[in-house]
Amino acid sequence: MYQRIVIKIGTSVLTRGTPHLDQAHMVELVRQCARLHQVGKEVIICTSGAIAVGRARLDFPDLPPTLSHKQMLAAVGQSRLMQFYERFFEIYGIHVGQILLTRADVQNRRRYLNGRDTLLTLLEHHIVPIVNENDAVATEEIKVGDNDNLSALVATLAEADLLLLLTDQPGLFTADPRTHPDAQLIAEVEHIDAALKALAGGSVSGLGVGGMATKLQAADVARRAGTDVIIAAGHAPDVISRAVAGEAVGTRFKALKTPLENRKKWIYAGRKPAGSVTVDAGAAQALCTNGRSLLPAGITAVAGPFERGDTISIMDADGRELARGITRYSSHDLTRIAGHHSDKIVELLGYAYGPVAVHRNDMILV
Ligand code: GLU
Repeated sequence: MYQRIVIKIGTSVLTRGTPHLDQAHMVELVRQCARLHQVGKEVIICTSGAIAVGRARLDFPDLPPTLSHKQMLAAVGQSRLMQFYERFFEIYGIHVGQILLTRADVQNRRRYLNGRDTLLTLLEHHIVPIVNENDAVATEEIKVGDNDNLSALVATLAEADLLLLLTDQPGLFTADPRTHPDAQLIAEVEHIDAALKALAGGSVSGLGVGGMATKLQAADVARRAGTDVIIAAGHAPDVISRAVAGEAVGTRFKALKTPLENRKKWIYAGRKPAGSVTVDAGAAQALCTNGRSLLPAGITAVAGPFERGDTISIMDADGRELARGITRYSSHDLTRIAGHHSDKIVELLGYAYGPVAVHRNDMILV
């Protein structure tokens, strides 16, 4: 049912509530991911646990609770964590790639596009991206802070169909199940309102940073970007396969909009165009009637300066605005590759960000 899935694995899931990584359980989660991978699904893992694993690796040193000590633990734990993912995915002949992000990487449009390109390129090559916050260097100001919100940003970045938040709880309940035995699991959430937020409270699970409150925030962000969200128990049998197959597991939040509409809104609502390009009649027709992307070959003039990732106007020869979109190349680069076939980009620039100047998905017709 779902094709591109971001799976957030919380610290409490990786450790099963102990101070140590539960390797057997991790193998089991990797097995479920591998099965999806084998049937052609695209899996992105957003993993927590660096700090917890680092602490265990150093045999629980008695450290002052300062940022630099936490960063030290993250530096030790992150590489350790990756060793395990690497080793367990290798059992299934699957490669993994590590991506460490901070908030700054998703807030700036250019870095956002770079991050997205990396993620999508990994997926294209059937490599499983394993994402975490760059805890070893990120300071509080530039941190997302918890991996629930980070995974929602990753799901938005990758335009995932499903964000699966695996935690130590079966989902969202009508009351805290630890204190209210009669609490009911909420199977489907229609609206994330104040009552629901109050219900989630500030609950924090185990060793991780997040709780139900950050999971709700994450669900809100992701479903606005067009991603369904499920909160489910990481230890439930076959939870990943069942969630992806559309079975009723945990608490589901349906996506509000399609990602395309949302990004187009971003283009329109965003700042006014930073510059423009003029295109020839062939390109104008390709854009307006054939629904194509804009290739450098169709560009006849460039009015900058603008950067890769800026919103630009696409004009016809008479100076009418045809479309608006996010450019993959700066004005400097476009000036050099305008009128040329995309095969020539590397030769002309020494690098390439792909064959298109403005991708169809990043464009809105005016
Ligand atoms: N990035 C943190 C870590 O890997 C986890 C944050 C969280 O638990 O939400 O240790």
